[in-house]
Amino acid sequence: MAKKKSDTPDTPKHIAVVNDKSLSFFEKYINNPSPTGFEWKGQELWLDYLKPYIDDYYVDNYGTAVGIINKKAEYKVVIEAHADEISWFVNYITSDGLIYVIRNGGSDHQIAPSKRVNIHTDKGIVKAVFGWPAIHTRTAGEKEEAPTLKNIFLDCGCTSKDEVEKLGIHVGCVITYEDEFMVLNDRYYVGRALDNRAGGFMIAEVARLLKENKVKLPFGLYIVNAVQEEIGLRGAEMIAHHIKPNVAIVTDVTHDTQTPMINKITQGDLACGRGPVVSYAPAVQNNLNKLLIETAEKAKIPFQRQASSRSTGTDTDAFAYSNDGVPSALISLPLRYMHTTVEMIHKEDVDNVIRLIYEALLNIKAGQDFRYIK
Ligand SMILES: [Zn+2]
Repeated sequence: MAKKKSDTPDTPKHIAVVNDKSLSFFEKYINNPSPTGFEWKGQELWLDYLKPYIDDYYVDNYGTAVGIINKKAEYKVVIEAHADEISWFVNYITSDGLIYVIRNGGSDHQIAPSKRVNIHTDKGIVKAVFGWPAIHTRTAGEKEEAPTLKNIFLDCGCTSKDEVEKLGIHVGCVITYEDEFMVLNDRYYVGRALDNRAGGFMIAEVARLLKENKVKLPFGLYIVNAVQEEIGLRGAEMIAHHIKPNVAIVTDVTHDTQTPMINKITQGDLACGRGPVVSYAPAVQNNLNKLLIETAEKAKIPFQRQASSRSTGTDTDAFAYSNDGVPSALISLPLRYMHTTVEMIHKEDVDNVIRLIYEALLNIKAGQDFRYIK
């Protein structure tokens, strides 16, 4: 008998995970603003989606939300993402009614001019725009001024500070962009703060798969959507201390380096569509990382590798260095244009991160000891 030719000998067929119902939740979740320190509305949406798939939940004083499966189990495994969205704060209102801002997280001054924003006030959303001097009014031949925190400003259509305040705007109001979710070329999800609300979505999808496949885990699973990552991993620090987990698998985004002006020599060679990214960094526990890689190989999930100097800059560090050291690892989702309003992630990568976390959980044993020397 002649050897049958297979269609794609090397690339295994992609297994889709996200369905219509989960996608519609994802869209709603992304369109809802969730500024750092003010995440509770997004956390409510997330918990509502998660509740059918968990036994119990817990929300801490600052808004980190945790879905729990097998609450009584002694051995605890965390899967984690962060819930917060970078934003701006109103910092100074001028006498003629313009507003200067400061960052809440790593918001990018370069992309601000000409964007429409939502200012969050006690009276509800107030609209404004980041103005910018017209090209005609800038002096030709002179070096152009770049947008910085010192010159970007919001215009909400007022002519005095009094008018601005009457709209409900005061120093300390948070500001988010109004850009919404879309699907690009049936291949990419695009939106603001997919970093890292895509992560919250993916860990919720893991819980859905566990429930639908009637998996009985031999340990307690803590599905953690942490607040305040963008200003220094703060929500993860708080909740790691509270849960005291034995293992933590964190998911966040990382840079796709295939677009212009990104140097692969310093940033590595990572691409959307080539699968989840595993990280090498001192905070990543190598035996747990090996488990992830073996899981990916066994389940035929494509993956990429990334190295980080010193720290990963993700909640992985917060979990790793908590509670006398928690074996932690990071599964990153490649993303284009981080901290802009058009962050892009590949649909297949989203499915594959969900699958990798799910399959890794099936491979972790209750009481598993990850130490290098026993
Ligand atoms: Zn970020």
